[in-house]
Amino acid sequence: MISQIIFSVVLLAAIVFFTRAVRKISRNIHLGKVIDRSDRPGERWKTMLLVAIGQSKMVTRPFAGVLHILVYAGFIIINIEVLEILIDGVAGTHRVLSFLPFYGFLITAFEYLAVGVMVACAIFLIRRNIGKLKRFWSKEMTSWPRTDANIILITEIALMCAFLTLDASDTLIQRSANAAYSGFPISNLLTGMLSGSSMGTLEFIEHFCWWFHIIGILAFLNYVPYSKHFHILLAFPNVYYSNLNPKGQFTNLASVTREIKLMLDPSAAPPAETPAAPERFGAKDIFDLNTVQLMNAYSCTECGRCTSSCPANQTGKMLSPRKIMMDTRDRMEEVGKNIDKNGKFVDDGKSLLFNYITAEEVWACTSCNACVQECPVDIDPLSIIVDLRRFLVMEQSAQPQELALMLNNIENNGAPWQFPASDRLNWTSAL
Ligand code: SF4
Ligand code: SF4
Repeated sequence: MISQIIFSVVLLAAIVFFTRAVRKISRNIHLGKVIDRSDRPGERWKTMLLVAIGQSKMVTRPFAGVLHILVYAGFIIINIEVLEILIDGVAGTHRVLSFLPFYGFLITAFEYLAVGVMVACAIFLIRRNIGKLKRFWSKEMTSWPRTDANIILITEIALMCAFLTLDASDTLIQRSANAAYSGFPISNLLTGMLSGSSMGTLEFIEHFCWWFHIIGILAFLNYVPYSKHFHILLAFPNVYYSNLNPKGQFTNLASVTREIKLMLDPSAAPPAETPAAPERFGAKDIFDLNTVQLMNAYSCTECGRCTSSCPANQTGKMLSPRKIMMDTRDRMEEVGKNIDKNGKFVDDGKSLLFNYITAEEVWACTSCNACVQECPVDIDPLSIIVDLRRFLVMEQSAQPQELALMLNNIENNGAPWQFPASDRLNWTSAL
């Protein structure tokens, strides 16, 4: 009974802390502007099934993609067993679901998957730490992001070890009462290691692994909101609300579009309703971005596929689209802590642009969309870059000189060239 009470208290505390952390992330995301992405629900569900659940963009790099699918599927499916552990823990039962006719098949499948997860995690650890894959060692991958990835991989291996050792010790305990008990294939291989142990030792190992497994899962649950691994949950809504428009189609500000149309055609009648000008053109801080852009930042897996495909990054420019997403998330976290401390946001004299992302990074982007194309969870770093640029141009006139010249020409001549519209046909005079 005492262990049931302890288990119930630990479970409740884990749920409370997890809920609190998730609510803070949700609040931070809702600091952004509302954007309506309720259109085309059928297409959105299809994209989510393909990209988030089917992981279709992961397998464009087959080796890492297949291993990731193994870890993802293994971890999710094996955690079905957590349901049994939770019931056993609260009710004080032992393998409460063992009456199910397919129970043996399920545990056997879980054990094979557990081995697959362990092998995949070990390969990931080797690739990151010994193989030193370039995209995991670029400059925004400081010691914390690298440690974060290692913590999760090692935790997953430890949880799978506990799961298999739990089954092995339980098999030996069951066999002491019923010699015909068959056990399960993988854990049977481990029983040899424990076979000389006394009943007391076996029971201790079984209890220890049981508690380690469930406490590990609850700790994992509470670690995830503070880690890049929050993408385990956010990848699904993130893909659902992704931009379905063709890549390269930019959103125009209605008030600016109206001015441009009038400028290009002064005879055009002004629209009956004047679109309201936005509070700020473009984005300087996270409050100027929209909720999907902010959700993007919390969904980033820090895989670096975007950065490794970015032509600006490849040619040695300062820009890394992964860093754009990491900076946005870090700034959100900073603003969130400010709100926690003061009850509301108190100006800290900082902003996403300038304090986290420099103008040099923003102007290095070629707007090629390679980062958007490559991202396995449909994140759009380019949309943030474009909004930061808009702020620089429209609020600060702080564009590179070449661009300023081109914009002046458009304003004065209606074309990017340095001659008036009346001279456009000069080239025909010699014909
Ligand atoms: S759109 Fe910009 S950030 Fe993205 S890959 Fe192209 S150059 Fe890099
Ligand atoms: S934005 Fe996408 S591709 Fe880039 S690091 Fe994040 S998850 Fe990976």
